[in-house]
Amino acid sequence: MKNITVIGAGTMGNGIAHVFAQKGFKVSLVDISQDSLDRALATIGKNLDRMVAKERISEADKAATLGNIETQTELSKAIADADLCVEAATENVDLKLRIFKDMDAHAPEKCILASNTSSISITKIAAQTSRPEKVIGMHFMNPVPIMKLVEVIRGYATSDEVCSQIMQLSKQLGKSPVEVNDFPGFVANRILMPMINEAIITLHEGVAGVEEIDTVMKLGMAHPMGPLHLADFIGLDVCLSIMNVLYEGFGNPKYAPCPLLVNMVTAGKLGAKSGEGFYTHVRGSKELNVAPTFRK
Ligand code: NAD
Repeated sequence: MKNITVIGAGTMGNGIAHVFAQKGFKVSLVDISQDSLDRALATIGKNLDRMVAKERISEADKAATLGNIETQTELSKAIADADLCVEAATENVDLKLRIFKDMDAHAPEKCILASNTSSISITKIAAQTSRPEKVIGMHFMNPVPIMKLVEVIRGYATSDEVCSQIMQLSKQLGKSPVEVNDFPGFVANRILMPMINEAIITLHEGVAGVEEIDTVMKLGMAHPMGPLHLADFIGLDVCLSIMNVLYEGFGNPKYAPCPLLVNMVTAGKLGAKSGEGFYTHVRGSKELNVAPTFRK
């Protein structure tokens, strides 16, 4: 594989473009928003600067990485020579189904179509295409250049050959891929999201406050970040949409999203990206601003 197309230049798309480009792949990064593309290149540049400062890469490596990335607003042009296309657009079923139809129409026959979706069925996405055996989930973790895991999700029709190619490719990127089957939430979010939802229910029922809940999980379970803090960084809207996928996918009330989570999303309190969630945040900053929004 040589030519990679990445669709969506947001939080995940820029990280995915970064890791492929740093390993010498030619990356075409596509977004409908020129602003997102500009911000993505600036973010990749800043992240590479940090690596240069830590002497993990040289200035020449940085220039080579940036030289491997071109940006595009037209999918049909960006995908024409692709060996692999990784979709990392907004988490919305209808949008992804539309994008996969488009990818299938314009990508060469050999091209593998992957999705970075956190929760949407790979089998459902694959059914939109004429090549379901070449459709697979490639679920990177945030921040992509740092996190080692790639959850490789086999749809119902994904072929063994495509699965082993993507496992191999993930290793080539320096990642540790894990193969999983296509069920709601896959493995990562099937376990993580109910834990976050339970932390929100614990808060909602007044068992403890935000900082107390996070402290119990950090100091008691050795989690690097408490579940409410993590929810703020993932985005409460994203957490809610994944809980809904689990709830609808399994039809089991144990996955019902906490009413407090629903209310906060409805009120536009989405976590770090909106400036307020369980904590108050400086917008765009990764630092925890220790001002819990809720008190016991
Ligand atoms: P984001 O909102 O930061 O970025 C999404 C980008 O997609 C935006 O730049 C938007 O302009 C672009 N986009 C929307 N429609 C498009 C189209 N038709 N063509 C091209 N680009 C389009 O979202 P994100 O957090 O990067 O999430 C992207 C995907 O990755 C989602 O499926 C999400 O579930 C998954 N994911 C996110 C995380 C995370 O922590 N944020 C982790 C793992 C997986």
